[in-house]
Amino acid sequence: MDCIFCKIVAGEIPATLVGESEHSIAFKDISPRQPIHILVVPREHHSNVAELAFANPDALVDLVQLGSHLAEQHSSGSFRLTFNTGTEAGQTVFHAHGHITSTTPKK
Ligand code: 5GP
Ligand code: ZN
Repeated sequence: MDCIFCKIVAGEIPATLVGESEHSIAFKDISPRQPIHILVVPREHHSNVAELAFANPDALVDLVQLGSHLAEQHSSGSFRLTFNTGTEAGQTVFHAHGHITSTTPKK
């Protein structure tokens, strides 16, 4: 499958990894829109967060836990976790992922 995030999960293309867990990996967004902008991505391919939630709820919980942990490490602890779902909502990569964004890096 020609999926850029599957290739990052497989280590076939580079990314700046910032964390990993049983079901998820996390890396810096290539074009950050906030001072902190991390993507949390399930290792398994599902095309969006809704499909992930039904197919593998454990992986979704794991993703939120990893994202929260990294938000604590990298930001003030005040952060957003967003899942663009569908083209009209701005989704451009059709492998489920959450955006962890924060305006305030940890001091
Ligand atoms: P979406 O628009 O689907 O919610 O989010 C996709 C995100 O993936 C965008 O913020 C985009 O900058 C990021 N992105 C796309 N391709 C790559 C890549 O090859 N490496 C990394 N690190 N981020 C990517
Ligand atoms: Zn994929």
